[in-house]
Amino acid sequence: MDNILLTNITSLKGVGPKTASILNSMDIYNIRDVLFNIPYKVVMSAQFSSNLNQGDRVVTSGIIENRVVTQFYENKKSRSYFSLQTPNGSVKIIFFNQMYLKKHLIEGKEVVVKGIYNSSNNTITANSISNASKDTNSNDDSIEVSYHLKQGVTQKKYRELVENCFNYIKDKNIINFVPENFKGIWPLKKILYTLHFPENSVSFDKAKKMFAFHELFDYQLKLQLQSISSKVEDKDYQILLDKSDIDYFISSLAFDLTNSQKDVIEEIFQDLSLPYSMNRLLQGDVGCGKTVVAAALIYGVVKRGYQSAIMAPTEILANQHFDTFFEFFRDLDVSLALLTSSTPKKERTKILELLKAGEIDILIGTHSLIQGDVEFNDLKFVITDEQHRFGVNQRKTFLEKGKKVNSLMMTATPIPRSLAITLITDIKVSTINELPHGRKKVQTYKATSKQLKSVLDNITLELEKNRQGYVVCPLIEESEKIDLKNVEEMYEKITSHLDDKYKVAILHGKMSNKEKDYIVEQFIKGEIHILISTTVIEVGVNVPNATFMLIVDANRFGLATLHQLRGRVGRSSYQSYCVLICDGKNERVDIMCLENDGFKIAEFDLKQRGPGDFFGTKQSGIPSFKAANLLNDTELMYLAKKLAYKIVEVTDNKEKLLSYLGIEKNNF
Ligand code: ADP
Ligand code: MG
Repeated sequence: MDNILLTNITSLKGVGPKTASILNSMDIYNIRDVLFNIPYKVVMSAQFSSNLNQGDRVVTSGIIENRVVTQFYENKKSRSYFSLQTPNGSVKIIFFNQMYLKKHLIEGKEVVVKGIYNSSNNTITANSISNASKDTNSNDDSIEVSYHLKQGVTQKKYRELVENCFNYIKDKNIINFVPENFKGIWPLKKILYTLHFPENSVSFDKAKKMFAFHELFDYQLKLQLQSISSKVEDKDYQILLDKSDIDYFISSLAFDLTNSQKDVIEEIFQDLSLPYSMNRLLQGDVGCGKTVVAAALIYGVVKRGYQSAIMAPTEILANQHFDTFFEFFRDLDVSLALLTSSTPKKERTKILELLKAGEIDILIGTHSLIQGDVEFNDLKFVITDEQHRFGVNQRKTFLEKGKKVNSLMMTATPIPRSLAITLITDIKVSTINELPHGRKKVQTYKATSKQLKSVLDNITLELEKNRQGYVVCPLIEESEKIDLKNVEEMYEKITSHLDDKYKVAILHGKMSNKEKDYIVEQFIKGEIHILISTTVIEVGVNVPNATFMLIVDANRFGLATLHQLRGRVGRSSYQSYCVLICDGKNERVDIMCLENDGFKIAEFDLKQRGPGDFFGTKQSGIPSFKAANLLNDTELMYLAKKLAYKIVEVTDNKEKLLSYLGIEKNNF
């Protein structure tokens, strides 16, 4: 091992098994981990002078001018003070309790005092008073760094640990793939040293920016290394699609595809035809028509004699896809099957048999598709709908259902443009950026709960035009009873307001799949006019005749959910409406009223919540950085990406790169 940073912490002075195990629980195993856990803040204290403000942190050395005077109060509490002569004048020092200090504070002695300045009576309330003759210089006294730590490791202990790391490294080199003098970036060692032992906050900030570059560079390097290992040519991934099959499918549709739909079909078509594994994300706003794109490609694949599968996060959605595909392929010679947890056992056995024999071309379903006993004959193409609803492992298991499988993931939760370009290199992205012709912008309004009656009057107008709609009540995690109560109360209010000829039904998460399916089916058929539900209809549901969406207590929902819910309407050429009931001010509700574009809403959401929350961190594989900021450091990310690309291109020593990144070879 030639990377000294990978030295285990147990080799350091002062790290016994107990400390090691606490550090391990903070994901700190080696010197690199210790040093890369940079301070999250530095606190500077000003030197005492005449131009301090109330509440400033100060540090000053000085000579004690008189004997310490102590006052006692309450029970054993004490307040002591003395006058200190500093180079910039005299100041009164106060300290509380700490009576043991008193015997060290003798007239004429030089001490260093740190504390908070009070301008009204020219005093410093001391946090610490120490001997000036101690080996620290006054610079160190005015700066204090703080780390994010766990119980069991104090700030002081961590500072010593960092010091021991640097003592261990001494003057040895640490590997650094950022070339010397690259854009004025300091050597890594200097950056790290400055972060842990800053001279002032200016140099700390400077070092932090450079460390941010290193973080982004390391991240990009890792992505590039991953992507070269997936770029190995392999003919088994290749599907030599026939353009005329796809054209034939498109011409059989009842509508014309949008240009954007045609473009992404072409793009994915090209990608599938290459002898590499495909890993692609199809993103497009709610209602833009991703399903038909999936169907066109699946048709092409099936016509070449391979199997394909599409997985959806809910049973409602899987059923709907099955019905949609059934319509699409009605007059085309393909066989499809539906597999969910509601599939009867006998039928399931039969499906699995036919699937294995290659007699089913397309399997549609939920998580049931990735169960152990589901075996395909020649699976070559899988589609994950609403991919953000699945975990990394589920998506991986899906891919492992065949030998060399190409993957397309679909999502309506777009990755904001700024991030997509800079971040993702191992996933390719196709984007549908227009809605089908004739769609009208969903008109979105805010209303208070007092206005419910007039909202219901407007809904009646839609019902009279034979339209349907949804009412969504928030899900309250802690209490199912309250959920149901909310929904039932709303049911009462609505049914008592409407003519009896309009059918209203409740749909909620605790119903069996069979009950849910039945209700959704009735709704699709138009036999139910209003569906009141918790968010079970959030994703995917497609009933073009639905034109109104009423969201109760809209302030309880996140932006992404509100946008998904609104996406259930506006799926035809009819004018649709979304009413957000909300008492009081709410920024998300205001945004919804102003903005219809899912990309813009996602950008806003990302800014408001930060990347960690937005992507749900661990599942998404989006890294969390200590110094870099994914939203603001776009320029830095570009630079890091370019450099990483160059380094990986010329390297003849991938292992050294992995070691530099602190990655063990067999973990890659
Ligand atoms: P999403 O992208 O949200 O999954 P869907 O695939 O469910 O959207 O499509 C929404 C609706 O729009 C469906 O009823 C679908 O048949 C219809 N649709 C899709 N593409 C077009 C088009 N080019 N012209 C007209 N209607 C379309
Ligand atoms: Mg969809």
